Amino acid sequence: MDQVIDGLYVGSAMAESDKASLKEAHITHILSVARHYLPSHPNDFTYMSVAIDDLPEENIIQYFPECNRFIGSALEGGGRVLVHCMAGQSRSATVAAAFVMQQDSLTAEQALQVLKDTRSQIYPNSGFVDQLHLYYDLNYDVSTDKALYRRFLISHNVEHFKEYGNVGSVVAGSDPSKQTLPAQRVVRCKKCRRPLVTDTNIIDHQAGAGQLAFSYNKRSSNGVDTPHAFPQNRACSSLFVEPMEWMAGIRDGLIENKVNCPKCDAKLGSYNWSGAQCSCGKWITPSFQIHRNRVDETRQR
Ligand SMILES: [Zn+2]
Ligand SMILES: [Zn+2]
Repeated sequence: MDQVIDGLYVGSAMAESDKASLKEAHITHILSVARHYLPSHPNDFTYMSVAIDDLPEENIIQYFPECNRFIGSALEGGGRVLVHCMAGQSRSATVAAAFVMQQDSLTAEQALQVLKDTRSQIYPNSGFVDQLHLYYDLNYDVSTDKALYRRFLISHNVEHFKEYGNVGSVVAGSDPSKQTLPAQRVVRCKKCRRPLVTDTNIIDHQAGAGQLAFSYNKRSSNGVDTPHAFPQNRACSSLFVEPMEWMAGIRDGLIENKVNCPKCDAKLGSYNWSGAQCSCGKWITPSFQIHRNRVDETRQR
């Protein structure tokens, strides 16, 4: 194991089992980031466990707040912490990097470099690196209030759907009719004027052929994750939005359904977790589609 910053160590499963070395380094707390991992010395150290596999599609960012609290309070209390996984390369490195990022307001690259300075074999898988970038873009705040984090979760729903045939649990955008903070732009039902979505719920896309999937990936995010703009292209006859609380069938796990106004029941569009094609030619997965001729897009003052 290696001390990557003052009091914080990264290591392998071997390091976790070596009680003599742990005692010698004055380790007090152990954070295990591995599935089906049983503590070797439950009576000697304070343990926390995060059960995940070392796979790019694992959602590791959801554990950052809890892990940071565990590490932070141990260090504040004068303790020393070992974060370990199996090899001490990917999972443990990701969790340690997230802690260093938040503590010192660093980017993902900067934090990983800090770790590599003392432990050269640090090598998180590509999905975890993306999630460290996302963590930075979320300003170290992993909250479903943030559109960027909801986009990331939706991409996981899509992967879940491809693998298991159901989407798992869905975090839907909150209903603008229940929001107190005024949004800058609001889309309302043309018939009854009920607010349906605001600008942060809208997924913009560039018109044309090709695929657009919800994703969070620094290297391919062009055209995605630009929630602050309405589609500018006249060829697009629909708005594509995130799943919304008020849409019937989302919570019941329906893969596709009509989208009707929750107040007057006017037909607005449809959704499909398998995706759909916009009138401009773009395939969008998943698609939560509202026809623009059924709504009014207004600017709030
Ligand atoms: Zn389009
Ligand atoms: Zn309506």
